[in-house]
Formats: sequence, structure tokens, C-alpha cells
Amino acid sequence: MHVLNIHGANDVRLDPVKVPKPGRNDVVVRVLACGICGSDLSYIKLGGIHRKPGGVTPIGHEAAGEVVRVGAAVKDVHPGQRVVINPMMTPSYIGSGGPEGAFTEELLVREARLGDSLLPIPDDLTYEVAALTEPLAVALHGVNRAGVAARDKVVVFGCGPIGLGMVLWLVDRGVTDVVALDLSAERLVRAQALGARAVINPSQEDVRARLRELHGWAQVFGRDAVGTDAFIDAAGAPNILSDVVRMAKYRSRMVVTAAYLKPVELDLGAMLTTEMTITTAVGYPTEMAEVIAALPRLREKAGSLISHRFSFDRVLEAFAVAGTFASAKVMVEFAQEAPA
Ligand SMILES: [Zn+2]
Repeated sequence: MHVLNIHGANDVRLDPVKVPKPGRNDVVVRVLACGICGSDLSYIKLGGIHRKPGGVTPIGHEAAGEVVRVGAAVKDVHPGQRVVINPMMTPSYIGSGGPEGAFTEELLVREARLGDSLLPIPDDLTYEVAALTEPLAVALHGVNRAGVAARDKVVVFGCGPIGLGMVLWLVDRGVTDVVALDLSAERLVRAQALGARAVINPSQEDVRARLRELHGWAQVFGRDAVGTDAFIDAAGAPNILSDVVRMAKYRSRMVVTAAYLKPVELDLGAMLTTEMTITTAVGYPTEMAEVIAALPRLREKAGSLISHRFSFDRVLEAFAVAGTFASAKVMVEFAQEAPA
């Protein structure tokens, strides 16, 4: 069998690896679907995470699969059980700098606990939809941090899988006025299909003028502002923060979920009179269980986030596609049989 390893900046390889044996407290999961995450792409650009010289970073953390081997001391888990892995609740941080990554046929889950690092998949949910639990939990946490109410006017910057997931959750919470922004026409079509009221392509339209049309306008100490209540940044473009500060109304809110690789400028002078709140959201401290419980109801909308599917032997091609603007969630799928 194989595992996908980062060896250096822009150097990712499918390396042969031994079939894992679980210790007393561990479980081995046969991975059947694993999504490609924006963070995987960042790790590849950076040359890995916590990687020792000459070492590798195995990646992949959005996995769903079937339990195949169970350590003697693990309770309530049995072979054949269908599970999603919560990588944040694994001691080795699967796919984020630890010794395991989920782009592999059989994945070792150390100190596995049902309802914690392993979440049962509802019976009739497909593995590929179940594998969306993790990115949808990231999206839900971002929405939770924005503290939105149904009547709020909300802007989502970026319609990659996380931004699209945010549109999905906002609409699901009854927010009727969601405006989504992206540079990709394909992604904007997906956002609209998920229920965004309007979409804006910032390369073709004046964002501030369009938001003024859509959300109305307000005054902040004699300055014009847009009527948007909450901005969520799932894009990470260097101008977003300063653009928002300069058009934000009094006591509006902004949540940053994008991974900025460089510092950005912030006009605190313009921000002062807004009394706005800027905060961040990372991961999903509490959201995984809620997402998987909601997935049977939302399966079609969730499934619409998947733009491409590749078999595991074509995982490097899958990564090339995930790096393009036209893609949303790229899903890697695995054969059911035991690996050689
Ligand atoms: Zn992810």
C-alpha cells in the first residue's frame, strides 16, 4: 500500500508503506474517501509542516472509511463499522504534521475513541458525503464565530469548499441575505445554487457599490458604509481586511477563517469609528458531531460541493486539479478491497 508524503516544497510523492498494526488502544480504518483540503495545498507549498530535515509530512485529514482492525482495549468499535475521523481529536494530528496522513489505503488512528476521534456514519450516507464532515465543520465553526441571526445581511469572501460550506450553513440557519464573492465564475454558480442571494466577482464589479445596492447603506461618523452585518473571510486575499474596514458599518463583525501566509495592513484609523469586531475561527472545537447529524438531511447540497473525483492511484492529478480556480472539493476515492 501507499501513503502521500510531502518531501519538500512542491515535492509530494506517493510512497510505499507497510500495512499498519494497531496497538492496544488503536484502530485501523480502511480509507474509502478523503477530500483534498486547502491546507494540504498550503503544506505542499511550504514543504511540509513540522517536517524534520530529510523527513516527510504525510497528508490527508478529511477521511471516511471502514474499521478493519481494532486494538484489544478499544471499546465499542468493531470491524465493519463505518466512520469519519476527527483528526483534531487524534493525538498525532492526522495529516497535519504527525506520523499519519489519510491519503493511504489503511490509516492508523491512535488512541481511538468512538464519539470523539471516530464518529459513526449514518447508515445510508455515502463515504464521499461523509468525508465532507471535516470541511463542513470548519465552515460551520466560521459561521458560529460570526454570531449571525436569520435577519442579518452577510458577505462571504471566497467560494472554495469552505466558503461554499458557509453559504450552505447560513442558508440552513435561515439567513436569506447572503452575498458570496469569488474570482471564479464556476464557484459563483455553485454558491448561487446553494442559496446565496447574489454573487459578486470582484475582478469584474465594484464590491462596495454592489454591496451598497444589495445591503443598503449606513453612515459612520459622516462616512458612507455598507449595510452588511457580518463579513466572513474564507479567501485570504491581502486587500480584504482593509477593504472591509473601510466600508464596514457601526458594530459590524468580521471573522477571518482564511490562512494568511503573510502579514496584512489594517487601517485602525478607519476602524476606530466603526467599533467593529474582527476575530478569527480555526478548526471545529465542537462542530463535527452536529455536522454529521445534519448530513442525511443536507446530503444533496453537501454533495454539490464536490467538483471532481479521482481514484487514489491518480491522487497527484487530483492535487493538480484542486489547485485550480475552477475546482471546489476534489474527492479521492479508494477501492473496497484490502491493499496489496
Ligand atoms: Zn480540511
